Amino acid sequence: MRTAKYGVGVRKRIDAIKQQRSEKYACPRCKKLSIRRQSSGIWKCKHCGLVIADNAYNLSSKVI
Ligand SMILES: [Zn+2]
Repeated sequence: MRTAKYGVGVRKRIDAIKQQRSEKYACPRCKKLSIRRQSSGIWKCKHCGLVIADNAYNLSSKVI
């Protein structure tokens, strides 16, 4: 049985988080869109190798 415990609002939020965590982000050092989520809160630039510890599911804009 599919639970009705969580409404559509929560599902939409989860979808947004899933989308955010698979997105690429701009690197503050080399300015390339090469930052990908490594694991929870760990973000790494594939271009210059910069590793950032930040939010678990998205990169806060304060770094950029
Ligand atoms: Zn970089």
